[in-house]
Amino acid sequence: MGLVVQKFGGTSVADPQKILAAARKAIARHDEGKQVVVVVSAMGHQTDILVDLAKAITDRPSAREMDMLLSTGEQVSVALFAMAIHSLGRKAVSLTGAQIGIRTDSKHTRARIRSISTDHVRKLLSDSAIVIAAGFQGIDQDGNITTLGRGGSDTTAVALAAVLDAEVCEIYTDVDGVYTTDPRLLPEARRLGSISYDEMLELASLGAGVMHSRSIEFAKKFGVKVLVRSSFKDVPGTVILSAEESTPRPASGVALARDEARITLENVPDQPGSSHALFSRLAASGIAVDMIVQNVGQGGQADISFTVPSDDLDEALEVSRTVAAALGASGVSHDAAIAKVSVVGVGMEREEGVAGRMFSALSAAGINVRMITTSEIKISALVDKSDAQAAVHAVHRAFALEAESVDGAADVAGTTLAKSSPLEVVQRLEGMEDLAIEDCHLDSSQALVTFIDLPDTPGVAAAVFEEVGRAGLVVDMIVQSHPRDGRAEISFTVPAGDRERAAAVARRIAASRGARVAEVPHVAKLSITGVGIRSHAGVADRLFRPLADEGINIDLVSTSEVRLNVIVAAEHGEKSLRVLRKAFGL
Ligand code: ASP
Ligand code: MG
Repeated sequence: MGLVVQKFGGTSVADPQKILAAARKAIARHDEGKQVVVVVSAMGHQTDILVDLAKAITDRPSAREMDMLLSTGEQVSVALFAMAIHSLGRKAVSLTGAQIGIRTDSKHTRARIRSISTDHVRKLLSDSAIVIAAGFQGIDQDGNITTLGRGGSDTTAVALAAVLDAEVCEIYTDVDGVYTTDPRLLPEARRLGSISYDEMLELASLGAGVMHSRSIEFAKKFGVKVLVRSSFKDVPGTVILSAEESTPRPASGVALARDEARITLENVPDQPGSSHALFSRLAASGIAVDMIVQNVGQGGQADISFTVPSDDLDEALEVSRTVAAALGASGVSHDAAIAKVSVVGVGMEREEGVAGRMFSALSAAGINVRMITTSEIKISALVDKSDAQAAVHAVHRAFALEAESVDGAADVAGTTLAKSSPLEVVQRLEGMEDLAIEDCHLDSSQALVTFIDLPDTPGVAAAVFEEVGRAGLVVDMIVQSHPRDGRAEISFTVPAGDRERAAAVARRIAASRGARVAEVPHVAKLSITGVGIRSHAGVADRLFRPLADEGINIDLVSTSEVRLNVIVAAEHGEKSLRVLRKAFGL
């Protein structure tokens, strides 16, 4: 008998009528012959109200008591939900996280799930009851109630779907699916019929707030098919599935992170260990670093730039100034209000000219690009905060995301969705939410081309990548460091066989702009892939440390949710691979 997990968010259970309507959805599935587990959030804004209550007592509530308090929100909604099902004449049993046996670590208010026992739930299901599970909560090894962090009910739902081997995890919410960009920002945004885990992970972490990003990590690791749909409208929704099952598009969505800040350490001696010194200190302070950009470095010195959430700026600046002084950097600069615009698509790897398209659109809108990083499925550009909205608009249009064809996937409502297979690495994990490093590999087939002293004006990146695209060159990594003294540096990698052609194009562009070109015929690119790379603090530290210990200098870095890439000198490729495989236990 098939099993389905349904999750109802706060707005979907905000009042008794809505609870009854949600209960009918659960019953409808049950009547189709499915076993049904329902995961429920606290009613409406109940969690916020509880947070405010605590704050009215003290501005420093204990984290343990906070969890004790917040978990009551879900306890109320599961009980009412079960009563609603009873009133409609069916069997239902509500359970708290502890009663289910959702074991977490002891990090109150942001606990991670370690394991879930299924016995109790299975028994109730086979007794033909609908099980109503409290979202967002668990219990640690000492019996303390824990919560998973705001928005954590999604994670409970997908985790339960994983351990119960559900056919699908249906997320009922107040939006009717995943959109090409936030429709509140851009009304012409369109709902996607399907999207891959990796794209969704990038978008979720980039601020497209439809789902808790940790829930997508679960979905990817355990191969859970997720369907996001509206509680209130009968429309198909969006399926989230593996890359193999999804349609590759050069662009699936555009995301905006509005509240970022940029910090640059200037003239850092370009030697092994500098990045490690910086990022290990930031990680130790609990600061999540987002974009990391290091320029190629001239005259033995390099600039290291990175972004952090605006809220962390002061603390990050303090750490950066200390590290800069210790390393002998010449100074630290920052920008308090910037935004990051990203385009995400699993098909972009295979298509030339994607970067050119994005940068041309920004340039045509008169928007200056401050920093660039790319991964295999994402291009991110840092722009002034005042340009954020216009940038989203320009990029969305450039990829014709408003067009009908984007939403091409089949109607998924009612279809039975086969489960994907879990990642192999899952068997080696101790805790379900542990960082899962799948692989580390070395690509020695690329060359590196760098523009030095490009004038920092809108349109430079566009001119470069339009031309590169026209020449039919497929670029892999692109990095633009933070401009200084009106000059920018842009690097990109191409297959080594294309280096001569790429360099010729680059020299032509450079000549007309008073810039210079440097090239390295062979570089080594190391990629670490897995799940949880950015949500687990300190992965960058684990990457930088072994390289620093071996005296290997890092030339370029790029990060994403599912991958960390570094470029080192070709002669260090094999050795780097060895030390990294060891560092990550591969
Ligand atoms: N009630 C919790 C919150 O508001 C969990 C959730 O809704 O997912 O964050
Ligand atoms: Mg929620």
